[in-house]
Amino acid sequence: MRKVGDVGVARKAIVSGGSIGGLFAANMLRNAGWDVTLLERTGVELSGRGAGIVTHDLLNALIVKAGATLDDLGVKVEKRVAFDLDGNAVRTIDYPQVVTSWDRVHSLLRALMPEGTYRLGVTATGYRDLGDRVVLDTAEEGPMEADILVGADGFRSAVRATMLPEIQPRFAGYVVWRALAHEKDLPEDVRRDVFEHFGFFVPAGTQIIGYPIAGPGNDLRPGHRRYNFVWYAPVNGSGLDDMLTDASGTRHDLSIPPPLVRKEVLDQMQAFAAAHLPKPFLEILARSERPFFTPIYDHCSPVFAKGRVALSGDAACVARPHIGMGVTKAACDAEALARHLGKGDDVVASLQAYSAERVPQSRTAHEMAQELGRLIFDKPAGGENRDGRSHPDIEWIMAKTAVVPA
Ligand SMILES: Cc1cc2nc3c(=O)[nH]c(=O)nc-3n(C[C@H](O)[C@H](O)[C@H](O)COP(=O)(O)OP(=O)(O)OC[C@H]3O[C@@H](n4cnc5c(N)ncnc54)[C@H](O)[C@@H]3O)c2cc1C
Repeated sequence: MRKVGDVGVARKAIVSGGSIGGLFAANMLRNAGWDVTLLERTGVELSGRGAGIVTHDLLNALIVKAGATLDDLGVKVEKRVAFDLDGNAVRTIDYPQVVTSWDRVHSLLRALMPEGTYRLGVTATGYRDLGDRVVLDTAEEGPMEADILVGADGFRSAVRATMLPEIQPRFAGYVVWRALAHEKDLPEDVRRDVFEHFGFFVPAGTQIIGYPIAGPGNDLRPGHRRYNFVWYAPVNGSGLDDMLTDASGTRHDLSIPPPLVRKEVLDQMQAFAAAHLPKPFLEILARSERPFFTPIYDHCSPVFAKGRVALSGDAACVARPHIGMGVTKAACDAEALARHLGKGDDVVASLQAYSAERVPQSRTAHEMAQELGRLIFDKPAGGENRDGRSHPDIEWIMAKTAVVPA
């Protein structure tokens, strides 16, 4: 039987985390000749989950490089339009962009994994780097050995907790509410004036973006699509404690499963929306499937590798969603990882080179996203901007949101 470190056989990689970052890493490493096993703690397929994500040329190129197709990737929007509180378009810029769904990208990459290499229901709990190999400890299957370990296990990464225990995600002071509404359920004027665009509402203290995505089953036909509603709303520390507490009184750590969000929390959200959001977006919210919220956290690790272990995607660095780079950044990490590991036999040196390349690039995205987040709360000098017409940086926000930073 092949042992880790044997000469002349494919080197073995374990990837922890079976979301998009883990799938990019696993497929890129397989394409570079590695024998890859991917472990996902969730016991059932992740398909059918998530909401909208934006694409960039860079992401498209990496989807193809991973081995997938761009057929039916998503919906093309041509313009970005900012609306005011009365629902009038107040700024328009041309920015053609394909918007897709988390589920579409995940299923394209998931389909590339050979039988038996994507293992559900296996939870990483920590690792030991033994110098000539790395041992991953798992809750269900005990220790597993490999030449390298990739922690693609998200912003609360167990792999990062062993590598860099001092790095903890920080709450940014606001949450994002997301919801999906079926195109066919929307009033005619909303379908005509709002649905087709990448929409914005940019008052002081809160912000909406939204865009059309495919309907269930990646249905791209007009009339069968959905609107992806994304709304950033401020929350103070004790407010977040309350939002994360379920009806049984249990306070959830960092995030709460959508079905456990209490009715009072949803009612408060609806009341805040009614007082602050434009009519077309209220129409969309009213026709949405159950809205869910995610607190905004971020972090960025100072190194993305130590010894035989690398971090990728959100485990390595979270750029807040304003920049729309979560999936693209994870794909870039995976490409760089496989490229450096393909250059020679010294995996530790290759992982150091990977880290040296990706830390500064990720930090640029992380900082740009923080700046976009900070601007949500900016007011015009001497004004209030409750109507979304006079944000001092509205053009800059529209031009930089969900765009790869230079
Ligand atoms: C189900 C799901 C839906 C999402 N939907 C959207 C969306 O609609 N829009 C958007 O912009 N972003 C979405 N995201 C986030 C987006 O995937 C990430 O921001 C980005 O793609 C980087 O992904 P990642 O793979 O690095 O991290 P994540 O997507 O966070 O994935 C981490 C994965 O690791 C698994 N995991 C965690 N801990 C362990 C462990 N100890 N052992 C084994 N596995 C572990 C998790 O279950 C998860 O599948 C979603 C993530 C998930 C998991």
